Amino acid sequence: MVEKCPKLLIVIPCYNEEEVLDITIKKMQSLLKEMVKQMLVSPQSKVCFVNNGSRDNTWNKIKSNIKTNSLIGGINLSRNFGHQSAVLAGLLEEKADIYISIDADLQDDPQVIFEMVQKYKEGNDIVYGVRAKRNIDSLFKKYTALGFYKLMAFLGVNIVYNHADFRLMSNRAVQTLKKFPERNVFLRAMVPLLGFKSCTVSYDRKQRLAGESKYPLKKMVSFAWNGITSFSEVPLHLVTFLGFATCMISFFLFLYSLYSWMSGNALIGWTSLITALTFFSGVILLSIGIIGEYIGKIFIEVKNRPLYIVDEKVNLDEQSNNK
Ligand code: UDP
Ligand code: MG
Repeated sequence: MVEKCPKLLIVIPCYNEEEVLDITIKKMQSLLKEMVKQMLVSPQSKVCFVNNGSRDNTWNKIKSNIKTNSLIGGINLSRNFGHQSAVLAGLLEEKADIYISIDADLQDDPQVIFEMVQKYKEGNDIVYGVRAKRNIDSLFKKYTALGFYKLMAFLGVNIVYNHADFRLMSNRAVQTLKKFPERNVFLRAMVPLLGFKSCTVSYDRKQRLAGESKYPLKKMVSFAWNGITSFSEVPLHLVTFLGFATCMISFFLFLYSLYSWMSGNALIGWTSLITALTFFSGVILLSIGIIGEYIGKIFIEVKNRPLYIVDEKVNLDEQSNNK
């Protein structure tokens, strides 16, 4: 059932965001105030900042703002658990009717939140924020991101094109997400698997308001790789195919060497022998490597370690949603 005046929780993961935090807190607080005033959401609604093991002044800033503002709450994680786990902590540590996750740098347009809530009231359980233009992104970021979405589609992973982690989820959707016990969290591929009624809203992505990106190339590549290996079996099938294809090639090489032997030219085959040897060693190593990647994932899943550990909660319910 859709409540007329639902409790909204806006989840904002923060990692070393002291430069941008003052602006973000001000903006989000006035946005929520406006929504409460228009009676779009209940007065119990909150902006929940999740400090993800920042080494700067982020947590102190969040705490001092909470003292003067009841619309703000904070979760301090005991260390950095990565972006995805910080978002999940916000979703699971406080009860609400609707949840919206958005980055701290406000590159994603917060005004879209009005439209998202509207779409929720029209009966959508999930509303994806989709970046219409990427004018401000560097050519490199633009094309690597585009390539990523294409590759994911090719590998059979269902993700919403140009959607990152700016999304609305109903309480029902969050409760269902809890049934996914996986440790390799990749929300943008997990949420579509829920399958409830969903829609998209689009906006133009802006420059970071302050500070630097917390996603350098190395983190981006490992994030993409995690997405692929957590949601696609295609690389494993590729290994099988590669094995099959190399077997075929080696069969023809065998026929060739047999022919050479029969015609008395056996020693001449050194070049082809060494080529085949190095080629097949490469294929075997590559295949073992890819299989190893998946075994590594199983290793992480089996250990079943907590995705995040809360150190402190301020101005939020003590009782967690994660029951
Ligand atoms: N972030 C986080 N933990 C991390 C890295 C990033 O919580 O280990 C947060 C960060 O504070 C921001 C969001 O994730 O709110 C997205 O990061 P960023 O804007 O730097 O990524 P980009 O937009 O450059 O891809
Ligand atoms: Mg950003």
